[in-house]
Amino acid sequence: MITLKGAAVSAKIKEQVEELLAGLEGKVPKLAIVRVGERPDDLSYERGALKKMESFGLQGESFAFPQDITDEAFKEEFAKINENPDIDGILLLRPLPKQIREKDIEHMINPGKDLDGISPENIAKVFAGDDTGFAPCTAEAVVEVLKSSDIPLAGKRVAIVGRSMVVGRPLSMLMLKENATVTICHTRTENLKETCKSAQILVAAAGRARMVDASYVGTDAVVVDVGINVDENGKLCGDVDFDSLEGTASMATPVPGGVGTVTTAVLARHLVLAALKK
Ligand code: NAP
Repeated sequence: MITLKGAAVSAKIKEQVEELLAGLEGKVPKLAIVRVGERPDDLSYERGALKKMESFGLQGESFAFPQDITDEAFKEEFAKINENPDIDGILLLRPLPKQIREKDIEHMINPGKDLDGISPENIAKVFAGDDTGFAPCTAEAVVEVLKSSDIPLAGKRVAIVGRSMVVGRPLSMLMLKENATVTICHTRTENLKETCKSAQILVAAAGRARMVDASYVGTDAVVVDVGINVDENGKLCGDVDFDSLEGTASMATPVPGGVGTVTTAVLARHLVLAALKK
């Protein structure tokens, strides 16, 4: 089984970013990461994203607000960032605390700065197969991993476990745009194992530690693990039991070191594209 490492894909995206940057005549695009509270997974994603921006020669700044900030106060702060001409793109870490109406923020964010595809305009574009907007970075990262590894998608049976608006749904649309035949699975799917097993490409985005083992995987299938979980021993792990796939899958992405690193590279590319569009 071949391990599809994210670092190689991220390096290719870095080259694209460097080419795109040439069109900005020395201007260095700036990302704003907006965080409410101190959730460990948000902090870890923020650190990773800031590190990636730096290594790609881009600017990143974190805007952190207290967990108990009111809806009104947060919207005021968010509007300032949204309107700040020095900021080219925004990454909003979600979910937000319950007192903040997340839907309002999705409608507020300038679609041109919405690097993670949360605004209705960008989501509509993903569903319409229009690539002039920004798709959610993780969904795009999955397609990037496959394309960059020369894995054909056209005509292939793809099963995606998960139907969230962050990963499963937009990814199914991006796969459809690549002419794959897509099955979206979720907690109500009957015969989940059989459905997954019949796929040539299986994407696990369920948020369940090591749920997908070899019994879900068809012979020579390609497995992409989107999951980021902490197991019972406090260890970072994916949705896939990677070691169990040896002898069944042809290729698989590891966690850590797989889709996650590509997600922040896609974010960097979106940032430069946003600056160029301005
Ligand atoms: P989510 O909103 O919790 O959605 C999980 C989806 O998986 C739901 O559609 C759910 O079905 C389905 N599901 C859960 N358990 C299942 C089961 N036993 N059988 C079948 N389907 C099941 O999660 P998410 O935000 O999409 O994230 C998914 C995973 O990706 C998480 O581990 C998250 O940490 C990770 N993630 C990674 C990145 C990255 O950059 N690599 C980025 C974002 C998220 P229902 O709809 O029926 O409930």
